[in-house]
Amino acid sequence: MMQTLDRAYFESLDRTDPLAHFRESFELPPAHIYLNGNSLGALPKAARQKARDVVEGQWGNGLIRSWNTHDWIHLPRRIGDKIAGLIGADPGEVIVADSTSVNLFKLAAAAVKQNPGRSKILSEPGNFPTDLYILQGLEHFLDGQVRLVTAPRERLLDAIDEDTAVVVLTHIHYKTGAMFDMAELTAKAHAKGALVIWDLSHSTGAVPLHLNQVQADFAVGCGYKYLNGGPGAPGFLYVAKRHQATLQHPLSGWFGHARPFAMRDDYEPAAGIERTLCGTTSVVGASLLEVGVDLMASASMELIREKSMRMGQLFITLVEERCSKFGFGLASSKDPEVRGSQVSLTHPQGFAIMQALIARNIIGDFRAPEILRFGFTPLYLRYVDLWDCVDALADIMENNLWDQPAYHQLTAVT
Ligand SMILES: *Cc1c(COP(=O)(O)O)cnc(C)c1O
Repeated sequence: MMQTLDRAYFESLDRTDPLAHFRESFELPPAHIYLNGNSLGALPKAARQKARDVVEGQWGNGLIRSWNTHDWIHLPRRIGDKIAGLIGADPGEVIVADSTSVNLFKLAAAAVKQNPGRSKILSEPGNFPTDLYILQGLEHFLDGQVRLVTAPRERLLDAIDEDTAVVVLTHIHYKTGAMFDMAELTAKAHAKGALVIWDLSHSTGAVPLHLNQVQADFAVGCGYKYLNGGPGAPGFLYVAKRHQATLQHPLSGWFGHARPFAMRDDYEPAAGIERTLCGTTSVVGASLLEVGVDLMASASMELIREKSMRMGQLFITLVEERCSKFGFGLASSKDPEVRGSQVSLTHPQGFAIMQALIARNIIGDFRAPEILRFGFTPLYLRYVDLWDCVDALADIMENNLWDQPAYHQLTAVT
């Protein structure tokens, strides 16, 4: 028998949800439905106390002594090792540093250097803007030594050739949630002698990852999305052990030196992953990121994925049932196996419709030109939230409530 999809059914799913108790660990404003944790994760309750400890205690009282007494110096590596556990890497292969954009620049430059005699950096059109901009910047900086080539997804595998130094792709697409087969693409690239950099911004903390199992070369990722590290939290990067000894990147700052406090004139890279560091760690930001990473590490990634896939299927079914006559399209795959932790709808009035939802404290986001994004964060999202979201969406459409001047006004950040 088909299950009737009503509010009571979604409440019953929450009652038997093995991850339900994690919601208590987050501070969410009352009467909000937050479907944007894929862009800025929610605030873990423990981060409040941690911020106080770090600012008042470690900084205020400890002053500069805290580099040693509170082990600030090892924060990038300590949190990196914890993130390694979330992405199928080994300790010593991941480090927390800088932003995703800066980390991508370091690794793309390093990969080109690592694979000499090849002139192509391959990506796909429509990749996340910063990824393409960073690669364009590198291309200009190297002045003809490499060129950025993009190939659409269906031709990507064939576009990897003997001239390809590095393939740079976002594992889960920010707009559609489409997920690459990381093992297949990595193997294909390696067969042609190309290296691969994966951007894991929408993957880490959202889906199980097995970087070492697929023999990944390099990766970068984001701290403030599914890892709940806070706005502008530092990013991270991964370098497979086998590449570390020869890796050279252009931002050879003192924190990447073998002995930063020997204060020598000449740069000598640290032996391991630390050589990818550049300057002083953002201690407050990294400390808060650790809270989010610890919380994520205490949950089962398999359960997270299971709930996320189920939420996606239920959301799509509800939208089909309740909103089919309002002109929405589906920009995400219906197959949960190849979809990340989000569902994207399309609508010509997408911006105004999303503003109308946000006015009801149902927060997703809009990505130009017509995508409405709904992100699912299984640690703090309830099944009943999905019901209430689509219920509100149906009401907004049925009664044309989106068609108000205030909802058409573009904001600086969408
Ligand atoms: C969010 C995101 C980034 C963020 O980069 P920043 O340097 O932190 O601004 C990069 N790449 C992708 C694919 C993202 O989704």
